[in-house]
Amino acid sequence: MEKKNISRRSFLKIFGAGSVTAVATLAGCKGGNKAGVQAAEEYKNQVEPPIGKMTYRENPKTKEKVSVLGYGMMRLPTKVNNSDEFDQEMINKQIDYAIEHGMNYFDTSPVYCQGKSERCTGIALHRHKRSEYFVATKLSNFNRDYWAADKAKEMYHNSMKELQVEYLDYYLLHAVGGSMEEFKGRYVDNGMMDYLLKEREAGRIRNLGFSFHGKQKVFDEVIALHDKYHWDFVQIELNYLDWDYANEISNNNVDASYLYAELYKRGIPAVIMEPLLGGRLANLPQYLAAELKSHAPERSVASWAFRYAGTPEGVLTVLSGMTYMEHLKDNLLSYCPLVPLSDDEMRYLDKEIAQKIVGLENIPCNDCKYCMPCPYGIDIPAIFVHYNKCKNEGSLPMGVGDAEYRKHRRQYLISLDRVVPRNRQPDHCIGCHQCEPHCPQSIRITRELHKISDMIESLKRDPLGERTV
Ligand code: SF4
Ligand code: SF4
Repeated sequence: MEKKNISRRSFLKIFGAGSVTAVATLAGCKGGNKAGVQAAEEYKNQVEPPIGKMTYRENPKTKEKVSVLGYGMMRLPTKVNNSDEFDQEMINKQIDYAIEHGMNYFDTSPVYCQGKSERCTGIALHRHKRSEYFVATKLSNFNRDYWAADKAKEMYHNSMKELQVEYLDYYLLHAVGGSMEEFKGRYVDNGMMDYLLKEREAGRIRNLGFSFHGKQKVFDEVIALHDKYHWDFVQIELNYLDWDYANEISNNNVDASYLYAELYKRGIPAVIMEPLLGGRLANLPQYLAAELKSHAPERSVASWAFRYAGTPEGVLTVLSGMTYMEHLKDNLLSYCPLVPLSDDEMRYLDKEIAQKIVGLENIPCNDCKYCMPCPYGIDIPAIFVHYNKCKNEGSLPMGVGDAEYRKHRRQYLISLDRVVPRNRQPDHCIGCHQCEPHCPQSIRITRELHKISDMIESLKRDPLGERTV
């Protein structure tokens, strides 16, 4: 990949940096009531975020003020642990609280939450004045059936119906980046781009953009279409690990430093997704968390990542999926107001800490669930998240040479059974590869699952650790 067009130093020059004060926050985004109980325990001494202190960024086109913290509606609270029965009462309550604290950007998609996110979001937002919020949704026509113009238009109009709005504030072509052939099939050859441009002219789409996961070549070609389409905004993955290491971790990803620079030089606002990499930057191994704590004991691990994502001036808003009220409050504490990171802090994160995280060699799963559902029931993200967690905690059983092999073996097998039902574990993967094209991190899912399955098989056969796992 062509090396970054913007160095970290010029990044700092471009953005400048403010002074630093303590901001305590923490967030993570796991669904389910069990996690909710844990969240409640973890945050029992949580302070209330202040009202009237939200930081806003200006949309250069509309001049509207957008809250720097945006609500990602992809991991909504459910009534029963990990069910698909969403808790509308709680969603309403959390959206009311977010709006009361100055948040005004809500991001959803027809495919989030088993297709129910738009409806839940619409019900909650409709109880507020239309002028109090901006709603963003997407043309998520991944399935080839929806490449046909009539089906794609149906998806677009259905979004407005579900959201109970007459116009969309932000509309995105969802997950551009696989190939130009796909881009053309989904948006150009079927006339959808022309249609959406007319919808923008008519005011039913106020800002038109795309979200990106994928190859630099595709990004370059699509961003070059700015002259023709005038992208009003682009959604990218930006955090201190992806800034310089996204491409090193996966050949199919592009460093955030490159993406950001390309947007910045064209004056296109960036909407940020994955500031915490699906919680990975909040759940660092203990020794790394302790290192961050030693620099600023009053700050949480996650607050570093949130402030990193919000510091660049070309960022319009940072999306965070907030399943529980505790997450919402803690995220608000990072952005009410946002205190930008200093030059030294930026460097410390995207050089020192990021390099150490890369060295962990985790499976780069951010729990986005785009690969789900697996037709054979495998809970892909839960298996990867559990594996990474054990690895980072140093409790992965390593066979010969692992002094605590027996303890680690037992812990691994028991904890896996707790988080993933037996019939959803990796040994049930038939290797059909259907999940892989959907993974924005380009993880070779089948290969990783089979590696974990082999490891589990060894653990079961080898209780004393006499063979190497
Ligand atoms: S490869 Fe395995 S995990 Fe992926 S869809 Fe097929 S059975 Fe499911
Ligand atoms: S394997 Fe890929 S698609 Fe599936 S949850 Fe992880 S990052 Fe997302």
